[in-house]
Amino acid sequence: MNLLLHFHLLLITSSALFLSPSLALENLVESHHVLPRPLNILEYPENHGILQPNELDQEVRLRCDAWRFAVEANNLGPWKTVPSECAGYVREYVSGRGYRVDLEVVGEQGLKYAKELASLGADGKDVWVFDVDETLLSNLPYYADHGYGLEVFNGQVFDKWVEKAKAPAIESSLKLYEGLLGLGIKVFLLTGRSERHRNVTEENLRNAGYRNWDRLILRNLEDHGTTATVYKSKKRIEMVEEGYRIVGNSGDQWSDLLGVSMSNRSFKLPNPMYHIS
Ligand SMILES: [Mg+2]
Repeated sequence: MNLLLHFHLLLITSSALFLSPSLALENLVESHHVLPRPLNILEYPENHGILQPNELDQEVRLRCDAWRFAVEANNLGPWKTVPSECAGYVREYVSGRGYRVDLEVVGEQGLKYAKELASLGADGKDVWVFDVDETLLSNLPYYADHGYGLEVFNGQVFDKWVEKAKAPAIESSLKLYEGLLGLGIKVFLLTGRSERHRNVTEENLRNAGYRNWDRLILRNLEDHGTTATVYKSKKRIEMVEEGYRIVGNSGDQWSDLLGVSMSNRSFKLPNPMYHIS
């Protein structure tokens, strides 16, 4: 053993002899702190009950799916706005393919049913009732500027949009509409819009490609203050009293479809942005 190695061994032995146990522990704790922190430091223990970000996304999506299903199945009572947790979900749905495909299915089923009607009378008394907003015309450009249903509906601001007459057609509804005319079915438009919007509504419908409707029925002064269900039922009763057979009815609200003198078949278009009683 050379002299230098002997000196090192002596130094190590003496350090061990003079280091107290508490000092050794302190050194250990200090050395632990300078080590890199473990990567899983933010992870919660198992069964913690707190959802991770991707689980949270999934949970919100599930809840918003359930909410939308309840809307479309008419399982909810009147509601004023989209739940805030579903704001992004509704935006994604109505501006994506989901909404378009759902609309297409409704239009296709309507036309399939109409084509299968055994006897469409040649007496010109078979009619199909269409709602206008979110049924024939889409107000999506307006709702895109107003949180897709997250904001409480403002009638005055909406009227300004209506008066522009720029709402585009819902393509699948236009296809159904033209198909029905081709089958010799009359088209009656029954809308909650006010009579004072007759001209802009006609202009908008024509701009969007709709032609040859038989009637456009809007709310008179006397119809204001009633629910859509009552107002639309009253108008359907009048149609039936005139001898018309309402073979089909298309609307994005249950209040377009339910009530008295209901159609033989009703076709509910999706609309998770607003509710009308
Ligand atoms: Mg509507």
